[in-house]
Amino acid sequence: MTMKIAIVGAGAAGLAAIKYSIDQGYQCEAFEQAEVVGGTWNYTDQVGFDKNGLPIRTSMYQNLRTNLPKEVMMFENFPYKASLKESYITQPEVLEYLNDFAEKLDLKKHIQFNTLVTHIEPTEDDKWYVEVQDAVSKTKQKKIFDAVIVANGKYHVPNMPSIPGLDTFSGHCIHSHDYRSAAPYTDKVVLVVGAGPSGIDISMQIHPVAKKVFLSFDPSCEFAAFIPKTLSHKVSIDKIVDNRVYFKDQSVEEIEEIILCTGYHYSFPFLSKKCGVSVDDNYVSGLYKELVCIQYPSMVFMCIPGSVCPIPTYELQLRVAFAMWNGHLQLPSREKMLKDAEEERKSKSCSNRKFHRKGIEGERLYWDDLAQIAGVKSVPNVVTKVHRYCFTQKKDTSKSFRIINDDEFEMVDQIN
Ligand SMILES: Cc1cc2nc3c(=O)[nH]c(=O)nc-3n(C[C@H](O)[C@H](O)[C@H](O)COP(=O)(O)OP(=O)(O)OC[C@H]3O[C@@H](n4cnc5c(N)ncnc54)[C@H](O)[C@@H]3O)c2cc1C
Repeated sequence: MTMKIAIVGAGAAGLAAIKYSIDQGYQCEAFEQAEVVGGTWNYTDQVGFDKNGLPIRTSMYQNLRTNLPKEVMMFENFPYKASLKESYITQPEVLEYLNDFAEKLDLKKHIQFNTLVTHIEPTEDDKWYVEVQDAVSKTKQKKIFDAVIVANGKYHVPNMPSIPGLDTFSGHCIHSHDYRSAAPYTDKVVLVVGAGPSGIDISMQIHPVAKKVFLSFDPSCEFAAFIPKTLSHKVSIDKIVDNRVYFKDQSVEEIEEIILCTGYHYSFPFLSKKCGVSVDDNYVSGLYKELVCIQYPSMVFMCIPGSVCPIPTYELQLRVAFAMWNGHLQLPSREKMLKDAEEERKSKSCSNRKFHRKGIEGERLYWDDLAQIAGVKSVPNVVTKVHRYCFTQKKDTSKSFRIINDDEFEMVDQIN
């Protein structure tokens, strides 16, 4: 009997999972709480809850351009349309690409839209019990699968920092998950907290309209070198009292609006404890190679590693998962996998919260390690070269990246 796979989510990762399942000759059913594909690339004005009373998952905002060139945001053998000359493209262009991928490969027929996965539990006969709920009627259904691919995204449960006195702040405060556009910040004094990609991008968006934008960050943070000098830099916050923010360098500012760009938590509220996967200060334990559920290897998780090129990572992870399910990859014993995960955790001196962050060199090591253990094709070297170039060279938006082969790229004028 053909193996039947449940896929949680129909964002970029879920779509890739459907394609790989079908290509490998398996049956699959994807469950998506929204009524569309594309996950976080779907912009909505709404925040909070959707029309069905479910939490809004997307963290997308107006006028977003990608922070990676589209040449490393591509599914294998599925290029962006030729009329798109620029490398750093807009949110609607990425969404169109994901929709095209789903349409042209006829993936949508495998997706149950408006369907929330509410519970996943291993059965006694090595299968998976998956409970889903119709988002509209609220009726629940129980289904049985042989394997599960968790592709529920990782940018929808805000990490709220514990800043002394934040609860006394008399202005307006949101997390970047709920940021939609610069307009509400017109003529306001704004403090953006956190200088990851969203913190920097949002600060730059509101800078032209706001009265003043302060960006508070830890100078040792990963992206410190990319923070534009036009923003007023601030060190970390010491405390907040009413509308006054006291910083650790003793400076004080009166602030009207705060935007917390402080990241997200991994969240798998539907997973039974029996899976042995848990999240501790954003470290996901119980996984082999940040991918395979050690307790039940018929379950895998897409893109736990952070600061990576997501789409090439999903595809490699899927090649590894199917090598395992097709019997080409023999996993070590559970004990060895647990030891491996534990040793990996100990080998990094960072906090749990930062453990999954790879960065360019870390992502290369991760990719090659995965590919090597499974005997599958790794992500082409050119992806690393482009990724490294983006973060080490000054951005020149008059030029685009052109991939020459698996190892080389060139910069070309956009009219080419
Ligand atoms: C603001 C922002 C900017 C970004 N910019 C870039 C960029 O420039 N380049 C880049 O490569 N990446 C970027 N990313 C990263 C982006 O998240 C990934 O590129 C990718 O789209 C993530 O896809 P995903 O499928 O893993 O997750 P998502 O897109 O989050 O999709 C997960 C899907 O699962 C569904 N879901 C969740 N839980 C359930 C459940 N219980 N039941 C049913 N369905 C469920 C959700 O509704 C959602 O549709 C950005 C992310 C954000 C938030």
